[in-house]
Amino acid sequence: MEHPEPDTKNWTWVLERACPECGFDGSKVDPTTVAAQVRANAAAWRGVLKRGDRVHQRPPSSPGSGPVWSALEYGAHVRDVYGLAVERLTLMLKKDAPAFANWDQDSAAIEGDYANEDVDKVSYDLAVNAGKFADLLDKVRGDQWERTGMRSDGSAFTVASFAVYLLHDPVHHLADVEQGFEALAEAEQ
Ligand SMILES: [Zn+2]
Repeated sequence: MEHPEPDTKNWTWVLERACPECGFDGSKVDPTTVAAQVRANAAAWRGVLKRGDRVHQRPPSSPGSGPVWSALEYGAHVRDVYGLAVERLTLMLKKDAPAFANWDQDSAAIEGDYANEDVDKVSYDLAVNAGKFADLLDKVRGDQWERTGMRSDGSAFTVASFAVYLLHDPVHHLADVEQGFEALAEAEQ
């Protein structure tokens, strides 16, 4: 089975300008609104993962781009992103400038066998992890927003920039899945 190309891009630019693919503009996001946006995003994922057989189908990939994930695979990825966000935010709030381990999200997908996971469980766990992340953000106060953490590629985050950066991934992949459903519907005609 083919797997999507490893995503080794540094996505921190989403803090400075709009993403050309999903329209998310991190420079316009108030970090104190991220918790509410995370909860809304998790609710949207719940809807997306209820769409029956289509959830398991990978849309046809366009020429030049690699294979694209199914809604289930993206959902499982987003569940893990929120899970990792909980760990990293907890570290940033407890330790001074912690270093984050590298996370190869594509090997996580292959090892985790996202495509064969149970959809209802993925949907539930995504909501649980998103809820924990939002609850943690609700408790951030005053200068805690300026606490720092370091990614393995050298990018430094504050709690504020981490929250905004993190939000892009689940928002971006929700748009991927919506586009994927459209491509699947077109391919059936
Ligand atoms: Zn995007």
